[in-house]
Amino acid sequence: MASIHTRGLVKKYGSLTVLHGLDLEIPDHELVVLVGPSGCGKSTLLRVLAGLEAIDEGDLFIGEDRVNDIPAAKRDIAMVFQDYALYPHMTVRQNMAFALEMRGMARGEIKERVEKAAALLAIEPYLDRRPKALSGGQRQRVAMGRAIVRNPRVFLFDEPLSNLDARLRTQVRAEIKTLSQQLRTTMVFVTHDQVEAMTMADRIVVMKSGVIQQVGSPEDVYETPANLFVAGFIGSPS
Ligand code: ADP
Ligand code: MG
Repeated sequence: MASIHTRGLVKKYGSLTVLHGLDLEIPDHELVVLVGPSGCGKSTLLRVLAGLEAIDEGDLFIGEDRVNDIPAAKRDIAMVFQDYALYPHMTVRQNMAFALEMRGMARGEIKERVEKAAALLAIEPYLDRRPKALSGGQRQRVAMGRAIVRNPRVFLFDEPLSNLDARLRTQVRAEIKTLSQQLRTTMVFVTHDQVEAMTMADRIVVMKSGVIQQVGSPEDVYETPANLFVAGFIGSPS
């Protein structure tokens, strides 16, 4: 079954059409990597899925529910941003607990979820620190922790590794892949880096100028590219 699917999804900013009628299926429990050049509409697509932007045409489903008009807070989706978007005045623990407190969850349950996620991400030693006392990699983990505690149906990642150095990027990449297997969850991971896409994905979605070019396993896309754009983009070094 699909966690998310879209039919003829169109998104415009004024007279600029950014997403040109996308038909997309994100199957349950897969790590789907959406890859394409800068400006092709990847962030816009994630924001539309998360409910942070309205769509102009088409339909969007989460599971069997059409969610076109369902606000972000009521979609069972958590988004991890490139700039982490942590609250600077709160500790790591408070950052992770905040959304759960807003939901009115019991304290004991919040504590349990925060500590479990912190253990999974190896950030327990930093729970009482504030974000500015953390390294980039640690902040990235806190941002992931904040999504994990919500136990969402789908995680959306918008270029979450682009602020990390190359060595750390490789490490966190592997950690996200492991997390997706441990949590048995659905993840949509956006990157403009084809190597990142090839190494992480169960399934790759290649996009160009707001149009999906190909969907397939990394092997399919590499060995049987649908067109010259895919061949050049996936085949070329980053
Ligand atoms: P990507 O994430 O693939 O780099 P984006 O989704 O950010 O691409 O942008 C796709 C296109 O939409 C670009 O041409 C960008 O300039 C435009 N765009 C993005 N956000 C807005 C906005 N809020 N208002 C107007 N145009 C936007
Ligand atoms: Mg983007």
